[in-house]
Amino acid sequence: MIPQTFEYTAPKTLEEALQIIAGGGKPLSGGMSLIPMMKLRLAAPDHLVDLGRLKDLHYIREEGGALHIGATTTHQDVASSALVRGKCPLLAQTAGGVGDPQVRNRGTIGGSVAHADPSADYPAAMQALEAKFVLKGAKSERTVAAADFFLDTFLTALEPGEIVREVIVPVEDGSTGTHYEKVVQKASGFAVVGIAVRISRKAGKIVWARVGVTGLANHAYRATAVEKGLAGTSGGATEVQNAAAVVADGIEANSDLHASAEYRKHLAVVHTIRALLAALARTA
Ligand SMILES: Cc1cc2nc3c(=O)[nH]c(=O)nc-3n(C[C@H](O)[C@H](O)[C@H](O)COP(=O)(O)OP(=O)(O)OC[C@H]3O[C@@H](n4cnc5c(N)ncnc54)[C@H](O)[C@@H]3O)c2cc1C
Repeated sequence: MIPQTFEYTAPKTLEEALQIIAGGGKPLSGGMSLIPMMKLRLAAPDHLVDLGRLKDLHYIREEGGALHIGATTTHQDVASSALVRGKCPLLAQTAGGVGDPQVRNRGTIGGSVAHADPSADYPAAMQALEAKFVLKGAKSERTVAAADFFLDTFLTALEPGEIVREVIVPVEDGSTGTHYEKVVQKASGFAVVGIAVRISRKAGKIVWARVGVTGLANHAYRATAVEKGLAGTSGGATEVQNAAAVVADGIEANSDLHASAEYRKHLAVVHTIRALLAALARTA
């Protein structure tokens, strides 16, 4: 398939990019989601603004007890970064499981969260990590928590003219164990269901747990009922099973050719148990 005719600009600076985007230009990062959508004529932007060539959006650095990751940092760079692997292993593990090597080498963290595919992997980790997104427009900058960012299928809190400039995730302390568990769509790697878990356990008791879920609902969410069920317990097998049982409660589950809503809910429970046990095994 051939996309509709469009204009293409590769700006030299972020300011120039934001000016064109403010005038209606469409951000292009890795193109791994946007270009297929254009080829299928599900998207037909008049003007693509290539952020992928902006070097000052491509970085990973530690600052103030958090990792700051520039929007155009690729999945491969996130997955292979010694800093991310050491300080935020959940994010490195999640990035390493996205798609295939070609997708990981082109696709970007900013493009993925902005696209907000309900089956994408990062959003589960972003919810569990309580990540923050720095959103920048030509004349504005604001920071939005993951909990307030993912609104619906392919819908985020981004306003027209804004881009995701940076993703901020916490640095784990020694008490935390993490794991991302997904049921893979065989053809693409997307998550039929994906569960991202962080657990802090001290002196044999779970202090807190964070559980992010993707693939199940119209957007990734935090399973707070599961988190509450675990807090204060020792994280034994029965406690984990009881807590995980409510992961899909009250959720209107997606149903498609990969899995019915009922089967997705079942998968969510089973894989929440697996994710929790794997994360607990990594706590001190
Ligand atoms: C074969 C295949 C397999 C895949 N498998 C997986 C998988 O297993 N798991 C998974 O999670 N994903 C998967 N993906 C999607 C992949 O991760 C994409 O990289 C990601 O969804 C989009 O990132 P991108 O940088 O390519 O963005 P683009 O395709 O360039 O853009 C996507 C959308 O986001 C907007 N955008 C881009 N950057 C920004 C920004 N900084 N700020 C605001 N808006 C922006 C664009 O305008 C567009 O609307 C797969 C894709 C393919 C083609």
